Amino acid sequence: MRPFEGKALLVATHNAGKLAEMRALLAPLGITVTGAAEAGLGEPVETEDNFLGNARIKARAAMEATGLPVLADDSGISIDALDGAPGVYTADWAETGQGRDFGMAMERAWRELEAVNAPLPRSAQFRCTLVLMWPDGHDEVFEGVLPGQVVWPPRGAEGHGYDPIFMPDGHQITLGEMTVEQKNSLSHRARAVAKMMEGSFA
Ligand code: IMP
Repeated sequence: MRPFEGKALLVATHNAGKLAEMRALLAPLGITVTGAAEAGLGEPVETEDNFLGNARIKARAAMEATGLPVLADDSGISIDALDGAPGVYTADWAETGQGRDFGMAMERAWRELEAVNAPLPRSAQFRCTLVLMWPDGHDEVFEGVLPGQVVWPPRGAEGHGYDPIFMPDGHQITLGEMTVEQKNSLSHRARAVAKMMEGSFA
């Protein structure tokens, strides 16, 4: 595995929630972290049907636009009783044409679970695929999974996306009720970042 020896990393996301989590998770490395919006980058179209393919699209677009090493994250929630949906389409379920509405997306997830009369607990996983890409195009891939269940009604105003309806295994509160520190001690993103630190920043 290639070691990362740079002092700066561009995090290729326009999602403010993801970026805030990533900044906190990367803080121990003491490197400069820049977000995609700060770097003036557009959002590439995610045309692949899997997390790794879309993470690579984001990483390559940002690397080619800036010449910097890039960290891209593609993530989402896979609900077992819905055959893994929304999965790679997690963000798409929130699309309204005028921005994203995660209240609507969470309602759809619950409505579809009710429609198939899914037994309790309604197990699901958050998944995160990270692609660390160097300016020469080499990349390393790291994955993190957080198992849990979908609950209703939504609880908590912390976090982002589907956090208010996801209760991790071994916990009685949702990600939406956790502080950033709590979430970052167990999340799918934190697990992927931990693997990256062991692999490329050891
Ligand atoms: P992406 O930006 O294409 O990777 O879309 C990922 C989507 O998955 C986001 O828009 C969120 O809705 C959802 N997601 C990913 N990670 C989390 C998380 O930690 N909490 C809640 N929702 C998440």
